Amino acid sequence: MNSQLNAQAPANRPIRQLESKSGVGRQWLYPKVVKGRYYRWRTVVAWVLLAMLFAGPFLTIDGQPLFLFNVLERKFNFFGVTFWPQDFYLVAIGALVLIIFIVLFTVIYGRVFCGWICPQTIFLEMVFRRIEIWIEGDSNARKRLDAAPWTTEKILKKTAKHTLFFLISFAISNTFLAYIIGKDALLEIMTDNPANHLGGLAAILVFTGLFYGVFAYVREVVCTAICPYGRLQSVLLDKQSVVVTYDDVRGEPRGKIERGAKGVGLRDKDVSEIINAVSPLSSALTPLSKGDCIDCKLCVQVCPTGIDIRNGIHMECVNCTLCIDACDDVMDKISRPRGLIRYDSLEGIQTRRPWRLTPRMIGYSLVLLLLMGVWAFLLVNRSDLDTTILRAPGQLYQRETGGMVSNLYLVELVNKTHQDKPVTFRVSYSGATLRMVQPITRVPADELTKGMFFILLPEKSIQQSSTKLTVEVISDGAVLDEVKTTFLGPVN
Ligand code: SF4
Ligand code: SF4
Repeated sequence: MNSQLNAQAPANRPIRQLESKSGVGRQWLYPKVVKGRYYRWRTVVAWVLLAMLFAGPFLTIDGQPLFLFNVLERKFNFFGVTFWPQDFYLVAIGALVLIIFIVLFTVIYGRVFCGWICPQTIFLEMVFRRIEIWIEGDSNARKRLDAAPWTTEKILKKTAKHTLFFLISFAISNTFLAYIIGKDALLEIMTDNPANHLGGLAAILVFTGLFYGVFAYVREVVCTAICPYGRLQSVLLDKQSVVVTYDDVRGEPRGKIERGAKGVGLRDKDVSEIINAVSPLSSALTPLSKGDCIDCKLCVQVCPTGIDIRNGIHMECVNCTLCIDACDDVMDKISRPRGLIRYDSLEGIQTRRPWRLTPRMIGYSLVLLLLMGVWAFLLVNRSDLDTTILRAPGQLYQRETGGMVSNLYLVELVNKTHQDKPVTFRVSYSGATLRMVQPITRVPADELTKGMFFILLPEKSIQQSSTKLTVEVISDGAVLDEVKTTFLGPVN
């Protein structure tokens, strides 16, 4: 976390940085199962996103895949709209919009993406962990099984678990490949003679191994040490960012609940009175009463990254909300209000003031709106047909019969629509004619068409060695594109 956060954190809420684990062996985590309201909502979101992810490559609009990221053929589809290398500027601005959106979203809502949307969290917590719990049981049962000798039961359970892990990784790998090469090419790899698709099959196996390794072994280390987005939190979050956090004002000093004790913990009214009366708060609370945290450590036991949220905001926290559910459950049992761990900002916890927009958030929002406006404008005004016309390299001009001079040109036409387009060409120069080498009368849908043509000008009309010309590309009576070029000729 940044220095600003550190400065705002009370002494008992250190901001834990990622510690170097060098020299320390991997500590396997066995998070406890907890099912609360956030977990139920996250399950709904996860299944919707998983359905979208697996269906994505197989859905089409006008015969085009909904999403395609074919880096090999440099062809990209977003929501059925095909982007060509000629649209690189749109992709670049779109990527910039996405980055600023992520920054803004993180500044306001912290790491909510990690907990709710990130495929790593969704697959690990909602698919692989659930299978593990289904086969091996809850936290203690899994711990016991791992520590136990290799009995028949252990071999069967581990084999079943890892077979399912491998099969799901295989399915993810195929889906991943379908996003890159398209569903038809993937189907061909699956159904054709394997000898014809050694490269494709090798890619499927490599990605299967990669996904299996990540979800079976690497797991939370992806979030805590590998993912660059996680590392970015230290510069993006500030004390107004909404994160999963522990209310130390209400919870401290923590301690075991005493049987039959009355008024355990401070009510919010008490807390606000104390806030108004004294500062710093923590020293004023200690002699009065215990806080609402009964130090049951359930929030730590359910955490999939193995941290104690009560020690402050951690870089390793993926905002999965499991500690909120666990603590709400405890609060219900001891008849205290829910939300000792909740979504809130550090400032909100310390001042009890509601969340508000900061100048930084407003600034990012304005930049984002501006970029989105530019991007939308360029997208709407993107031409259906992209034309490139270049004079043939190494050629000057030729004198032809009838007092004409000709230049040879290479033409490339990209039809970005999903329908064939009839085309003709027109040169906007008095007395000019255009003669095709191979006639181009139509450009097939979603294809690149190449050709050559001569432009002929009357020699007496040529006033300079390089004359500027405009070639119009016409389809169904409308000018679809205009390309500027030059014509070389003799000067009289
Ligand atoms: S679950 Fe709640 S009460 Fe229990 S230790 Fe965590 S914060 Fe304290
Ligand atoms: S502290 Fe752990 S359980 Fe709580 S939101 Fe962060 S990662 Fe999840």
